[in-house]
Amino acid sequence: MGSGCVMREEDRPEPGVVEITGVRKLAPDLVVVPDRYALLVPNIGLIGGTHSVLVVETGLGPRNAEKVLEFAAGYAHGRRLYLTTTHFHPEHAFGASVFAGQATYLANRVQADELAAKGAATLEQFRGLGEWVARHLEGVELVVPDVVYDGSCDLDLGGRLVQLRPTGRGHTKGDQVITVPDAGLMFTGDLVEADQFAIFPWFPPYETDVSGVGWIEVMQRLTGENPRVVVPGHGDIGGLERLTDVRDYLRDLRDETWRRRDAGLDEDAAAAEVRAVMIGRHPDWAQPDWIESGVRCLYTEHAA
Ligand SMILES: [Zn+2]
Repeated sequence: MGSGCVMREEDRPEPGVVEITGVRKLAPDLVVVPDRYALLVPNIGLIGGTHSVLVVETGLGPRNAEKVLEFAAGYAHGRRLYLTTTHFHPEHAFGASVFAGQATYLANRVQADELAAKGAATLEQFRGLGEWVARHLEGVELVVPDVVYDGSCDLDLGGRLVQLRPTGRGHTKGDQVITVPDAGLMFTGDLVEADQFAIFPWFPPYETDVSGVGWIEVMQRLTGENPRVVVPGHGDIGGLERLTDVRDYLRDLRDETWRRRDAGLDEDAAAAEVRAVMIGRHPDWAQPDWIESGVRCLYTEHAA
C-alpha cells in the first residue's frame, strides 16, 4: 500500500498478529517482515552477516515472538542470533522472553531502565485495551536484556557492522535507532510511522515521558544523517521523506499548539482546534486521536 491510500478500519488485517508474509529484501542479507498496517504489529527486521543475524523487534507477546524466532532461526541457518528492540513498548519488545537461550538480547541503557521501571504497568495498561490485546499478552515475561550498552554499540555480524544508538527522549525515554551503513538503512521504531499521525503515549499522570520538543530534535538529527532507506515502526518502508514528513508534522504540531497556548486558549480548546487543522492538512493519515495527545504533551512543554 502506498502513502496516500485511505485505509478503512474494516480493511485492516487481523490486529496484533505477525504474519511471515510479503517479506521484503531491502539489501543483500537484509529483510523486513512488513506490518501490513495491522494494529499493534511492528515492522520486523533481520540483518545478516557471515556469522550472525540481528533480529529487530519481537512482535506482541510470546506467540508472535515464537513465529519471529522460528523464521529468524531458519533465515540464520546456523548463524548466531542477536535480538534488539527499538523501544520497550509491548508490540516491539514484549516477546523477548521467547528468545532467551536462542539469541543474545542487546539494548541501550535507558531503554532497559525504562522497561524495568514501567514494563509491568505498561503490560497492565495494554491488557486493558481489549480482549484481543490481553490474549496476545498472556504469558508475557518481562526480561532483562542480556547485554545493556552505554553510549552506542557497533555490532559485528561478520563482514557487516550494524550500529545501535540511543536517540535521547522522543516517542519514549529510551528510543534506539539501528543503522546499517553499507545499505544506507535505518530502523527508527515508533519515532517514525508512515501514513498516520505520530504516536504520543501521553497518559498523565501515569505516563508522561514522551517529549514533543525532544522528538523534534531527534528528527532533525536523524534527517541530517540522510539515510536512503527508512524502516518505520509501523507502515510502509520509504526513503528520507519518511523522516522529513515526521519532522515537519511535529514542528507544525508544536507551532499550532504553542500559538494557541500563548494566545490564552486552554488545553482542551487547543486540542480540539489543532486536531481539526491537522486532519485538514493530512486527510489520508490514520489514527487522528494521537493528534490530541500530541497537543496535550506539547502544551506542557517549552522551547529547549
Ligand atoms: Zn511505541
